[in-house]
Amino acid sequence: MSEVRVRFAPSPTGFFHIGSARTALFNWLYARHTGGKFILRVEDTDKQRNTEEALRVLLEGMRWLGLDWDEGPDVGGDCGPYFQSERQPIYDEYLARLKDAGRTYEKEGAIWFKLAGERYTTYDEFKQAEVEKVKTQPVVIDDAVRGRVERSEEMDFVIVRKDGSPVFHFVNVVDDIAMGITHVIRGEDHLSNTSKHVELFQAFGATPPVFAHIPLILKQSGPGKMSKRDQGALIEEYAGRGFLPSAVRNYICLLGWSPKDDREKMDIGEIIERFDFPGINRGNARFDEQKLAALNAEYLRELEIGSFTFLVRPILAAKGVITEDEDEDYLQAVLKLAQPKARSLEDLPEYVDYFFQDDYPVDGKVAEKIAKKADPKSLVAEMLPVLEGLAAFDADSIKSALEGHAEAQGQKVFAYFPALRFAVSGQGGGPDLLPMLEVMGRERVLARLRRFIG
Ligand code: GLU
Repeated sequence: MSEVRVRFAPSPTGFFHIGSARTALFNWLYARHTGGKFILRVEDTDKQRNTEEALRVLLEGMRWLGLDWDEGPDVGGDCGPYFQSERQPIYDEYLARLKDAGRTYEKEGAIWFKLAGERYTTYDEFKQAEVEKVKTQPVVIDDAVRGRVERSEEMDFVIVRKDGSPVFHFVNVVDDIAMGITHVIRGEDHLSNTSKHVELFQAFGATPPVFAHIPLILKQSGPGKMSKRDQGALIEEYAGRGFLPSAVRNYICLLGWSPKDDREKMDIGEIIERFDFPGINRGNARFDEQKLAALNAEYLRELEIGSFTFLVRPILAAKGVITEDEDEDYLQAVLKLAQPKARSLEDLPEYVDYFFQDDYPVDGKVAEKIAKKADPKSLVAEMLPVLEGLAAFDADSIKSALEGHAEAQGQKVFAYFPALRFAVSGQGGGPDLLPMLEVMGRERVLARLRRFIG
């Protein structure tokens, strides 16, 4: 079999929508799975919307997701240029070929594509027809996802507008031919265009590519497609919200594709190995923020602590939890405690705030709850001299000193823990208490205990 060549053909809009990202991703996966080529072709014929900025958002989004292209902007290739706005000479040449084959005509200043067989040329004629004019077979599309789809094109259509600009259907097909595209993987919203495209391929004497139309992505709840206003719709927003590209990419793979055993968390190598058309679902996919967040948390917990710290430092600095020059060792020690508990990077600043700030918020409900059992101030007052007397301030030493004290008082050591945690953090929960005290360090802990007693 000849080499697979797939393309992602976005029209930059200024946003990188999750639906587009999914189309890019599925094409990329298919290329990597088959050892073929992944081509990025920018369909920038709409001059108003195609700004530098719109292109930047798109390319950055793809790079963030780790989708590299073998041919396209920045990397070049044998079938360039890869911007439709620069391919006019190629369109002129292909238009001439259609003209020579007698498959075009001019009407009202526009150039029309003449369908094969005898068809209607105006909508009125189509509506008023008494005789069935369509004599040729309907177009049959053997879609790799949808199965057999039949559709008739009943009317000729415009391929070059009055102002000389070529229409989407025309340039899209010309480029797919000129770039040797073997498989067209795109959103289901394009299925209705496909019969026009097949007619054009045939008119050029080209074999149409294999089509694979992938299902829509529905919004989290209710009917309707995910729109750019829905939370989670824009790829460029994920980084700022503390999502890891590997987690987002893994999640997007699951929007319309699933491996046979329904596994969810998979590294990209495994997905590449298993990705194929039979695993693409026919039914619509539904965006699920909770599932994405859960996957992200799993990826976060797996990060090596140095990378986790690198990722979290700017987030904490932006929230004012730390300053830019916060000590790396202390930060890393704190994050080592927080990482196993982290559900998202968004929650993290609040979770670790008191490690860095002395004026942390105090949870009033926890205060009430603790006070019901015993006076926390007198418990802390008991513990203070024990901790002050410690030679080494590590978790084990703290533990045995407190155990010794509790035993002497005829108490369990756990009776002291809630008051101790509350005194140093203002919270009822958090990382494991003893390692947390060790990380906070003697000075900070003792100062807070003294302040607590007042
Ligand atoms: N520019 C079209 C789009 O963004 C490409 C469609 C296709 O993949 O053929 O929807």
